[in-house]
Amino acid sequence: MSPLAYRRVLLKLSGEALMGDEDYGIDPKMIGRLAQEVIEAQQAGAEVALVIGGGNIFRGAGLAAAGMDRVTGDQMGMLATVINALAMQDALEKRGGKARVMSALKINDVCEDYIRRRAIRHLEKGRLVIFAAGTGNPFFTTDSGAALRAIEIGADLLLKATKVDGVYDKDPKKHADATRYETLTYDQVITRDLQVMDTAAFALCRDSGLPLRIFDMGQPGVLLRLLKGENIGTLVSGRG
Ligand code: UDP
Repeated sequence: MSPLAYRRVLLKLSGEALMGDEDYGIDPKMIGRLAQEVIEAQQAGAEVALVIGGGNIFRGAGLAAAGMDRVTGDQMGMLATVINALAMQDALEKRGGKARVMSALKINDVCEDYIRRRAIRHLEKGRLVIFAAGTGNPFFTTDSGAALRAIEIGADLLLKATKVDGVYDKDPKKHADATRYETLTYDQVITRDLQVMDTAAFALCRDSGLPLRIFDMGQPGVLLRLLKGENIGTLVSGRG
């Protein structure tokens, strides 16, 4: 029997998580460390799928604000997530993992097209799956892509890595007395107007009852500890 509390999880990393000490793009040291953590979690018995954002390269909304057509900007943003996914695939494979990138946009010269049943099969066969290009649609974010794919593959938990170690009652950078919630229900997130993820993504999690954990990926070993059931960050789930 696996000593893990979760069998199948989806880990959402922002594009910025790959930047490390750089101002833009990908820091090889950082992506290597993240890949190592994912491999350790998988070796412990978890099926791990990943979604990586694209904010370290492009964000459609930012490009639109600078005058670019929003849909074109979002398409560029989605392609940026494919670049990050390919980098992660390489980092995982360099460390002995087996990985497959599956894209919501069809670019099957560089990666597989997203096919749900195939993604599940990859996971069952011990492959790490990286879902790229978000939902494949403009006006969405990779948080929505992560929630959608997590539900589709029947993940037990959506792990959202951030720079902050959970959800606080007020901005911990501005308020010294901010307190972190250990657990929240979906309704509490809404009534307290807490910023957990964008509204579309959050609605998907809530409507499907998908538990969501917000945590800081900065501490080495944190992913495995989470999968063993340690109470790190903030867990959003349940009613009330
Ligand atoms: N994007 C999109 N549809 C999606 C997912 C992403 O159009 O389903 C585009 C959008 O422009 C977004 C960019 O890709 O700004 C990068 O994704 P995101 O901002 O979610 O990345 P993160 O903030 O997680 O790095």
